[in-house]
Amino acid sequence: MRVLIVEDEHQLADAVARGLRREGMAVDVAYDGLAGHEKATITQYDVIVLDRDLPGMSGDEMCRQLAAEETLTRVIMLTASSGVADRVAGLSLGADDYLAKPFAFAELVARIRALGRRATPAAPPLLTAGNVALDPARRVVERAGRPVQLTRKEFGVLEVLLGADGAVVSSEELLERVWDENADPFTTTVRVTMMTLRKKLGDPPLIHTVVGAGYRLVA
Ligand code: CA
Repeated sequence: MRVLIVEDEHQLADAVARGLRREGMAVDVAYDGLAGHEKATITQYDVIVLDRDLPGMSGDEMCRQLAAEETLTRVIMLTASSGVADRVAGLSLGADDYLAKPFAFAELVARIRALGRRATPAAPPLLTAGNVALDPARRVVERAGRPVQLTRKEFGVLEVLLGADGAVVSSEELLERVWDENADPFTTTVRVTMMTLRKKLGDPPLIHTVVGAGYRLVA
């Protein structure tokens, strides 16, 4: 899941980003509204965590623009106030959810996951192919009933390949969906992750290289 945090309190933004990365999400951070809006224009995020009170462009304004663009991106708005009037105002601007500061981190994670599920309605709760099963919520992978321990990136790659349902997925798409913007597109990072993922999944091989196109998972 690809998440953007737009929050001008650097410490809070960075702490939330670290926490979400530990949950296996690919996270980008913007510290003001304009930078946030620019990132949201370039990348198709699943969920944007949007502070309401921002320099540059306010959270309200950014929310309004995102809603006008009719993207699949879901927005959860953070606000200092928990008043009902604020909540209604936030939702009427096109936010999908609303969380008052201070919030419990676990609450934020739960809301983001719920919104992420709505952003991709076709994704089944459990992804399977042959004898491989991946549970996105519990972050567990099994092959033939045996647990397979994966790193966050390996898990993300497998999740995308399973979601593609046998279709070819390019390295560029994997970079876009599993890595954050700090990933260097010219490195061998996808290839290396693919190699360790294949090794951990064992035989018979499931992930096939389609020369010049990418990778596909064949059960
Ligand atoms: Ca703020």
